[in-house]
Amino acid sequence: MGKIVIISGPSGSGKTTVCKLLGKDRHVKKSVSVTTRPPRHNEKNGESYYFVSTAEFEDMIQRNELAEYATYCGCYYGTPLKALKEALRNEILYLLEIEVQGALQIKEKFPEAISIFLLPPDKKTLGQRLIKRNTNKEDDMRLRLKTAEKELEYKDKYDYCVVNDDLEVTVNTIRKILNLV
Ligand code: ADP
Ligand code: 5GP
Repeated sequence: MGKIVIISGPSGSGKTTVCKLLGKDRHVKKSVSVTTRPPRHNEKNGESYYFVSTAEFEDMIQRNELAEYATYCGCYYGTPLKALKEALRNEILYLLEIEVQGALQIKEKFPEAISIFLLPPDKKTLGQRLIKRNTNKEDDMRLRLKTAEKELEYKDKYDYCVVNDDLEVTVNTIRKILNLV
């Protein structure tokens, strides 16, 4: 049986970077979410996300094709259920990089899921990392920073909180939590 691993945290906390590194392990597979957000310049359909229209996303909700879904900064995001079920049939860790509302839905449906909240070292660093990533328009960045404050209130609902200061230390800490070392 596979295991679900949830990674949440404010935008810019380093989730994508950390998940990419964790995903190098042959025991780890990352879920590909569905979203109505437009792709960033470096994102490929089917790799970073499945990019769909709002109507397509709402059809997926109607057909119960999502294990969880939420709206975040005005767009839909959801986890495909079929791929998740398939992953659980194998001996792997299935990484869900999702926001807090989705994480709560998964924990309710799959209480054995391991949940990890990634924290930035401080607010200033979070802002700097979002600017460094430079993939958001200014308005969107402001909204994401505001949303971060609300997301941080959920951190105690997670099994583990990890501060992403030094990237290598962060990845090693999570690998230890997941018994990958
Ligand atoms: P998220 O997926 O949580 O929105 P990203 O993984 O896109 O965050 O990271 C945001 C930015 O911060 C990226 O430019 C990334 O390279 C950088 N970053 C991530 N982790 C660290 C770290 N530990 N130290 C310095 N920069 C980092
Ligand atoms: P971004 O637009 O930066 O890629 O993602 C915005 C937020 O949506 C992040 O917190 C990310 O973890 C979250 N997210 C990505 N995929 C999913 C998903 O399938 N479900 C939920 N609930 N959140 C997701």
